[in-house]
Amino acid sequence: MLITKTIDETRAQVELGIAKGLKIGFVPTMGALHQGHISLITKAKTENDLVVASIFVNPTQFNDPSDLTNYPKTPEQDHSILKKNGCDILFEPSADEIYESSYVPPSFDFGSLEQTMEGAHRPGHFKGVAMVVYRLFQIIPAHRAYFGEKDFQQLAIIRKMVEDQKLPIQIIACPTIREADGLAMSSRNIRLTDQERKLAPVIFESLMECNKLINSIGVSELKKAVSKKIEGTGVFKTEYVEIADAQTLQPIEEETQQRQMRVFIAAKASKTRLIDNMGL
Ligand code: AMP
Repeated sequence: MLITKTIDETRAQVELGIAKGLKIGFVPTMGALHQGHISLITKAKTENDLVVASIFVNPTQFNDPSDLTNYPKTPEQDHSILKKNGCDILFEPSADEIYESSYVPPSFDFGSLEQTMEGAHRPGHFKGVAMVVYRLFQIIPAHRAYFGEKDFQQLAIIRKMVEDQKLPIQIIACPTIREADGLAMSSRNIRLTDQERKLAPVIFESLMECNKLINSIGVSELKKAVSKKIEGTGVFKTEYVEIADAQTLQPIEEETQQRQMRVFIAAKASKTRLIDNMGL
């Protein structure tokens, strides 16, 4: 596996692959890699000739400075995971390299997509995500890029960015990988205390409960019941429980057979904020 730090070297290596007629698959990450990330690498490996991953903890998408400072970093372990799983090139830039002064991002407008859930609770988050993903797509002109449904709203934002900016890249959605007890894998899970980790599957159980009850009780009653269940742990505080249209991500007030629905939850323990979602 080749590890690159600069834009010029990374782009040159990818362009070399393209000149040889290779299909390029790209997996952007913030490191502290786990089985969820590995599933993206594995899928990229089966669908492309050359797999490029990036590790960059993007400061512009953190609205909480302590979350950025405390974001887990496991570089040696990440390198060995990527090597073992067939990654060909790892781009590991510094913030100065990504945000060199000449970089002016286009202006993004995600409309109502960024006004709910993560967009509403983390001001500026999705503009930061778009800013870095657009930049990475310029540096790594891949054929396909792989994103997890774990961050379902992020996936919708990236699809919209690709469409609006007319980028020649295919966005591939990958299913959420979970621990045996249902907790969605996340780099932030290692920041949970033992007690929080034990109680964290309440989020997955709540998603499952929504799936079971959506046809029998009203949406607002259901959201209240789920919120109560999460708060009942005495450890997790509910930030939001939302049932939304899977396409537009706009909240749904009443259950309807005509639309594809999805439930989204954000909950916070002492220092760690977790998100998860599921199709209904
Ligand atoms: P991150 O390093 O958290 O920015 O995540 C990098 C990519 O991995 C994003 O596309 C995430 O949606 C995806 N991802 C993170 N956790 C999971 C998971 N448990 N299952 C599948 N994909 C995931």
